[in-house]
Amino acid sequence: MTSYDLRSATAADQAHLIHPLHHPSGHAAPKIWVSGKGSVLTDIEGKDYIDGLSGLWNVNVGHGRRELAEAAMKQMSTLAYCSSYTGASNLPAIQLAERLAKLTYPNINHFFFTSGGGESTESAFKTARFYWKAKGRPDKIKVISREYAYHGVTLAAMSATGLKAYWPMFEPRVPNFLHIPSPYPYYFQGGDANTPPGVAAANLLEEAILREGPETVGAFIAEPVQGAGGVIVPQPEYFPRIRQICDKYDVLFIADEVITGFGRTGRWFAMDHWGVLPDMISFAKGVTSGYVPLGGIGISDEINDAIQSVEPSRRWMHAYTYSGHPTTCAVALANLDVFEKEDLVTRAAENGAYFLRLLKSLESHPNVGEARGLGMMAALEIVEDKKARKTFDRSRKVGESIHAAALERGLFSRVRDDVYVLAPPLSTSRPELDRIVNSLGESIQSVLGNGGLG
Ligand code: PMP
Repeated sequence: MTSYDLRSATAADQAHLIHPLHHPSGHAAPKIWVSGKGSVLTDIEGKDYIDGLSGLWNVNVGHGRRELAEAAMKQMSTLAYCSSYTGASNLPAIQLAERLAKLTYPNINHFFFTSGGGESTESAFKTARFYWKAKGRPDKIKVISREYAYHGVTLAAMSATGLKAYWPMFEPRVPNFLHIPSPYPYYFQGGDANTPPGVAAANLLEEAILREGPETVGAFIAEPVQGAGGVIVPQPEYFPRIRQICDKYDVLFIADEVITGFGRTGRWFAMDHWGVLPDMISFAKGVTSGYVPLGGIGISDEINDAIQSVEPSRRWMHAYTYSGHPTTCAVALANLDVFEKEDLVTRAAENGAYFLRLLKSLESHPNVGEARGLGMMAALEIVEDKKARKTFDRSRKVGESIHAAALERGLFSRVRDDVYVLAPPLSTSRPELDRIVNSLGESIQSVLGNGGLG
């Protein structure tokens, strides 16, 4: 294998590799990662960083787990791949589906596997359309999602994604996708003495359904906690009210648990925080902790009945070559073993509460509008004026500067505008969480001084 140093690797990368969200302005000096252990990533120059986002919200068990590598090796040496198209199956996929039926919501007992989040979103949308056609209501095709949502970037998923920066160069978006505002508690203004803000935010769904016509709306999709949008934790009344509205108008509720699934919020799946059952879930990321690409959807018994009972000519004609891939399913099983052995979900709940307490201490800085989070996902909302909840002008690139300052201090994560997001591995130790918060506090101080743009 060719050996590279930072210079030669960067040059070869820039010559040949196109990256997600590619632009050369953001790729002049890429970090080139070579190894990872626990919550620490090491770059090509041997420098260590805390992986503040678990890769991309996915390496839930942390880096360097031999058990997962061994599971892949064992399965690859036995049967790396086989078709799972109807009429064929394999043992790891069967076992994983059986195990997920126990871990997910009580009404979700049937699973279809994909290779990642975007494919899961597509599968959920197509399954919603299928369901309504099977039920004799073929006009229920529209999908409602929310501003600040991220559901992936395949064409339909992109059309549901509510972060508008993903759209312009790929439009027109797929028709029949629309957005309502996010319940974003830090900024949401709705509600009154009789209507808590969470209910008012959910009522925007009802308004949209009525405006569009309930007979045309097939599904509502929402992340339990909006992730890429800035770790937006909804008000406690939000999802119970959403569920009522979906029931009232026969709209399927899809919970996109691509980030929130598999322990991230301190529960196995996040709707559990509010006692709400979705009709479908999509998942990916944490199911294998990112060691190999796997995602999927889980569907309710009711939707499953529709798939099982249609005529062969109306079958659920949806498929991926890698659906039920035995190696990825075997790695998922080994990953779930680690979760259970180390009680990572309880740990995420306990350490997440500790982490949020530490982050809250940063609110004493005049530009930290809010520290928020749930389990092991958190964010700092950096604002120019805390009283007015006014953000900095984007041209000042405050978020980017804090990200760069954090990198200098050995912390690697991401920003959405001036929101610094965090989701370290669920296995991250308390001293490492202390280090994250100290580095971030110093970074904010170095960029903003004691307030304003110091
Ligand atoms: N849904 C959510 C909630 C996500 O966070 C992501 C990825 N960040 C996706 C879907 C898309 O997943 P992928 O990048 O694997 O297509």
